[in-house]
Amino acid sequence: MTVDYLLVGQGIAGSILSCELLKQKKKIFLIDNYYPNSSSRVAAGLFNPVTGRRMVHTWMANELFTLAHSYYPTLEAELGANFFHPQPLHYLFSSVKESNDLHAKFGDVEFADWINPNPAENYLSEIHAPLGFLELKQAGWCHVANMLEAFRNYFEKKQCYLQEEFNYDKLKQTSAGWEYGPVKADAVIFCEGARATANPWFGHLPFKPVKGEIITFKSDKLSLASIVKQHYWIIPQGNGIFKCGATFDFNRIDEMPTKEALNELETWLTKTVKVPFEIIHHQAAIRPAVLDRRPLLGEHATCKNLFIFNGFGSKGVSLTPFLAGHFIGYLTHKNDLMPEVNHQRFMPRG
Ligand SMILES: Cc1cc2nc3c(=O)[nH]c(=O)nc-3n(C[C@H](O)[C@H](O)[C@H](O)COP(=O)(O)OP(=O)(O)OC[C@H]3O[C@@H](n4cnc5c(N)ncnc54)[C@H](O)[C@@H]3O)c2cc1C
Repeated sequence: MTVDYLLVGQGIAGSILSCELLKQKKKIFLIDNYYPNSSSRVAAGLFNPVTGRRMVHTWMANELFTLAHSYYPTLEAELGANFFHPQPLHYLFSSVKESNDLHAKFGDVEFADWINPNPAENYLSEIHAPLGFLELKQAGWCHVANMLEAFRNYFEKKQCYLQEEFNYDKLKQTSAGWEYGPVKADAVIFCEGARATANPWFGHLPFKPVKGEIITFKSDKLSLASIVKQHYWIIPQGNGIFKCGATFDFNRIDEMPTKEALNELETWLTKTVKVPFEIIHHQAAIRPAVLDRRPLLGEHATCKNLFIFNGFGSKGVSLTPFLAGHFIGYLTHKNDLMPEVNHQRFMPRG
């Protein structure tokens, strides 16, 4: 089989990039080991243009969020699946000072499209929010695991998907490009998420994987229809099911759910939710984060036609649609990559 691109990894990055390459009439072949604890399969899929303690716009928020809000509904129609859930996010104030500071900051008209500092109705009667909250617009969540299942069916129908552990030793460079068993490809694109640290060509890049834990709980009494965020978040999934998370652990880089994280999340939930709930699931996975918190895109410094599309950290849902388009411009039209995402920013200078 001869293709333009062989891709490794069917997380959100490899899936969206593959889909967009197919739309450009490129022939692709995608290999993935269908690992149940991959970052994309565990992720809550939250997207929110204003984050952090100081509540600032995320990097490139305008471009990323404008595209995401049109991209995912179109994708749902193309894949015949439902996974994109725009939903307001209610940020609960933790102190009077924080409430005053954020009201002063966001009263400005420049934030009108993003933030409602004085939501008219407080429908958080089941949530402990004595200091009130502000409403972030343009937020929501994507059921990434469902999206990946829909993508997998789509790629299988197109006969361009193989479930297999990719063996780096089997990839051979030829005068025409690259060969992996029977697959001959002009180029190879690695999208292995946090597992890229084992990649012989790109594993040296300064990944800074971060473990995250997340719980699922049910409550018949919680009618919450918006996302709630304070120290952690609660995302309504429908039918009385909610997700809560996520922890950040920079030291224990494994996929084992821990008692410590469970206690931490449960303690916060007990303080925040006024009605009874029952925890029904607890998961852990590794975010493919990078030292400077920007993605890693581009061609290998010496091996021609060997590429990486990775490093989406904790923002895979908002970053991937825009950066897939940007990367395809680089692959097919030789457009420059933005320096902030080009992995060559880590090459020694001079
Ligand atoms: C607890 C938690 C919560 C999160 N919450 C959010 C959130 O709310 N919003 C958000 O935007 N992001 C969130 N993230 C981050 C998000 O999950 C990532 O940004 C995104 O999933 C990265 O996607 P990826 O495709 O690059 O990597 P992955 O999802 O890891 O996909 C890589 C794929 O490649 C496969 N693979 C790797 N090596 C091989 C090999 N050798 N052979 C075959 N297959 C291979 C893997 O098994 C996997 O299927 C969260 C992450 C965690 C852990």
